[in-house]
Amino acid sequence: MFSANTNLRVLAYHTVPSSEKFDGQIQYLIKNYNVISIKDLYQHIFIGKSLPSRAVLITFDDGDISVLENGLSVLEKYDLPSVLFVITDLIDSSNTFWCRWVEKIYEKKGRSYKEAREKVNSLKNIPNKERMEYLNNLEKAESRQLKSAELQILQSKKMVIGNHTHTHPMINNCTKQEIEQELEATKSLFKKWDLEGYPFFAYPNGNWDAKSEKILKEKGVEMAFLFDHQINKNKINPLRISRIRVDADTELNEFKVKVSGLHSKIMSLR
Ligand SMILES: [Zn+2]
Repeated sequence: MFSANTNLRVLAYHTVPSSEKFDGQIQYLIKNYNVISIKDLYQHIFIGKSLPSRAVLITFDDGDISVLENGLSVLEKYDLPSVLFVITDLIDSSNTFWCRWVEKIYEKKGRSYKEAREKVNSLKNIPNKERMEYLNNLEKAESRQLKSAELQILQSKKMVIGNHTHTHPMINNCTKQEIEQELEATKSLFKKWDLEGYPFFAYPNGNWDAKSEKILKEKGVEMAFLFDHQINKNKINPLRISRIRVDADTELNEFKVKVSGLHSKIMSLR
């Protein structure tokens, strides 16, 4: 069941470089919006429970360690719920999220940041098999990653752990079989780690396509989040929930503009 007249903002953070600016942003949200949980949103979409006015859902993509180190204490201080979309292949490992991994290796080789970003972007636009082959041949770069035991702690502190695939492929560059393998791997790990958020999915890079959406649905995904910088107005399609990208280290004035939705209007005018 879809209910009308919603006005929901879903914020998509990645890292939390320091607690200080993030704390200011959270205080602003508390004063001006109503922070909801993903369970509130689920009940709104599927059983028609109404949302408060000016509802905001806080999400984080990629499961960066800084969310645990700098973000959790702020959210706990104000007793706020959130969602952390994790890449299951990285959990309990010391590997680096692949976009950062390419950047690290390029830096080590004395290549520019611009060159590294061009490489990352090219890897986002080729068949997934070729992306995997490139990464399989790339020298390792170590990073501290979240452990499964830490995910359980986060889950117990109102941070729902959601599904951001197993290896963060661009879903639109995957075959049907690759998408199924990604989801099967994630599903079994969520079960093994006693995590509830497998049905809540964030598209890597926000790359949506119709073929993938069908497979996600078949594989038990109930809510899927985009990266389209839009506010959710009126009816919410549970498999196409809009999100606004924000950064935890931006100045409050810039943050206010982004959360207002004005930013996406400016972007679309360009
Ligand atoms: Zn991501």
